[in-house]
Formats: sequence, structure tokens, C-alpha cells
Amino acid sequence: MTLLHYPQDISRAVLSVTKDKIVILLLMNIIMLVAPGESKGTHAAVLCEHFGIPTISTGNMIREALKNGTEMGLKAKSFMDEGKLVPDEVVIGIVKERLSQDDCSKGFILDGFPRTIPQAEALDKMGVEIQYVINIDVADERIIKRMSGRRVCENCGKPYHLTNLPPKVEGVCDDCNGILVQRKDDHPDTVLARLETYHKETEPLVSYYEKQGKLVTVKGQDDVEATTKAILEGIEA
Ligand code: ADP
Ligand code: ZN
Repeated sequence: MTLLHYPQDISRAVLSVTKDKIVILLLMNIIMLVAPGESKGTHAAVLCEHFGIPTISTGNMIREALKNGTEMGLKAKSFMDEGKLVPDEVVIGIVKERLSQDDCSKGFILDGFPRTIPQAEALDKMGVEIQYVINIDVADERIIKRMSGRRVCENCGKPYHLTNLPPKVEGVCDDCNGILVQRKDDHPDTVLARLETYHKETEPLVSYYEKQGKLVTVKGQDDVEATTKAILEGIEA
């Protein structure tokens, strides 16, 4: 048995049980720092199940707000459609609110936040302690290839990929029979804009978290499961 993050408050511990070891972790706050299109939702879902902690996806929250026609959603739409980032203060606000909810007390996986240095600084200022920042390393050409093949269930939001993560029946969601569609921001022009945004605004976070000693870098592989496995190994789970 390995004891990581010495539990001062055992009620906040998270158990990780695998074939050959049991790990007790206190507070598992993880950031997924991933270039656009790199199935981070899929990896986050695995970690979420493994540790029994919620995934907080700012992309999904913003899309949800848009679907519900809230003021924030409408404000975010133009930025999203152009492949730009939604303004920091808007995203910081929704994350702050979400992290204050009860289900985050044992930890959480932040999927898609922070994406800029000011967002990371805001997180530090909120007093949120992060244990691991997962950095999935991928070349631009691969990102473009990936994004063009992405599809998402129109109904439940489950992500798919035409070649890497195909549904059982073409064009149909495995879980809810919803129709699979391509997000507007996955169209080729927007993809290039998003890549540029990523390099300019998000990539500096790699050295930001490296300096804090929290970075776990994993090479993105075509096989999504292999990447997920490397992530779990990287965080010693
Ligand atoms: P992907 O995983 O494909 O990169 P997401 O679903 O995480 O995209 O986010 C989609 C869009 O939502 C982003 O392109 C951006 O416009 C907006 N968004 C999501 N998270 C953030 C964030 N932390 N800061 C600013 N904008 C964000
Ligand atoms: Zn579905």
C-alpha cells in the first residue's frame, strides 16, 4: 500500500484500487492541460470513474449555457465560433462557482481550465491546491487530423471520433441513439484559429506548472486507451 498526500482529514481521502496496489490519496485535484481536440474529455472520464471525483469541463459548461440561452452563453458564442477563448473573467466566474459545490470536496478534474496564465493565477488565488497537471504532448498535424474526425452526440454530448473512437453504429450515439454531429468549432478554419490560440495563450501554462513541480507529461498516442494508461501511470494511480 502506498500513501500519497498524507491525509490530515481522512474523510477527504480517495481510494485508488488496482490489481496489485491500493493507494490512498488525499485530495485529487487534477488539471487536464491538453491541446485542442486531444480527447481530453475521454481521458477525464476515465480518471473521473477511477477516483470517483467529478469532471469540470468549462467547454461543456459554456455549451450548456449556450443551449439554455443564458446571457453568459450568448456572450460566449461569438468567441467560441471563431476559435477564440471566452474572456477570463467569465470563465473564472463559472469555475469558482462550480468548485464551491459539495461534490468537489474530495477532488475534481478540471478539463479545459485554466487555459491562460491569468486563469491559472486566479485558481492559485482561490487557494485551490492542485496535485497534478496532465500535459498531453501532441504535434499540430495530428491535432488537425484529430479534430476533423471528431463527432459529438447532439443529445447527450458523448464524444466520438470517426477513426479513433467510432460509435458501434455509424452516425449514432452508443448510449442514447442520438445523432452524431460535427461541432461548428471543429470545422477546418476554426481549427487553425484554435491551434494558434492554444500556442499563444495556453502553452505557457506548461512551464508555469513545470516550475510548480506538478507537470506530468504524456505523449499523445493514436490509441486513446494507451494514452489513458500512460496518464494513470504518470500519476502513480
Ligand atoms: P476542446 O476540448 O475542443 O479544445 P472545449 O470543449 O474545452 O474545446 O472548449 C470549447 C471552447 O470553449 C473553446 O474553444 C473556448 O472558446 C471555450 N472555452 C472552454 N474553456 C475555456 C477557458 N478555460 N477559457 C476560455 N475559453 C474557454
Ligand atoms: Zn448520446
